Amino acid sequence: HFRCRSAFKLLEIDDKFRLLQPGYSVVDCGAAPGAWSQVAVRRVNSAGTDPDLPQGTVVGIDLLNIPTLEGANFLSSHDVTDPATHAKLLELLPNGQAHVILSDMAPNASGFREMDHEKLITMCLSLIDLAEKILQPGGSLLCKYWDGIFAHKLQEKLSSVFGSVRTLKPSASRKDSSERYFFAKMYRKPVK
Ligand code: SAM
Repeated sequence: HFRCRSAFKLLEIDDKFRLLQPGYSVVDCGAAPGAWSQVAVRRVNSAGTDPDLPQGTVVGIDLLNIPTLEGANFLSSHDVTDPATHAKLLELLPNGQAHVILSDMAPNASGFREMDHEKLITMCLSLIDLAEKILQPGGSLLCKYWDGIFAHKLQEKLSSVFGSVRTLKPSASRKDSSERYFFAKMYRKPVK
């Protein structure tokens, strides 16, 4: 009943690190077809399924169409890196703040491993700008990347604004792929 197998990676990570709590506000970047959002809706109780728990919020964004899902608010045909998308997010999130940013975004693969790696790292770096606008202090970020020469640059940037950054390779992720996740927590807004 999940829209995509990728759900199992998020379930595995969340079972271990408990980043999605009832009542939390979550932004799901690169959300289509919506499997991660399905997991998030359950874990933050955004459909209000358990009336005894606080009700969270899930907002998903994708360049593609995301079929509707109860408990989630979707920005289909939206680019995560576009400031116009950030402005809409501010309106959709309670107090304009998120507890968690998830990103399973991936560019269309060109087949040139290094080029795809660099492109995805650039997309992940843009999440740091998004965090500055919407992530509340103490919040966390989980983002997929493809391992390669620029991964350390992303890790350094994340470490400069998050108290803890770790690299994850869920067992649901194919062993022979370069897919990894950075799990960054304890966000502190940079002082300007
Ligand atoms: N997590 C999703 C799920 O569980 O259903 C699967 C995500 S799929 C691996 C990656 C998605 O990232 C694609 O749907 C793609 O359109 C989206 N994407 C790539 N670049 C994007 C961007 N700049 N803004 C929004 N979405 C983007």
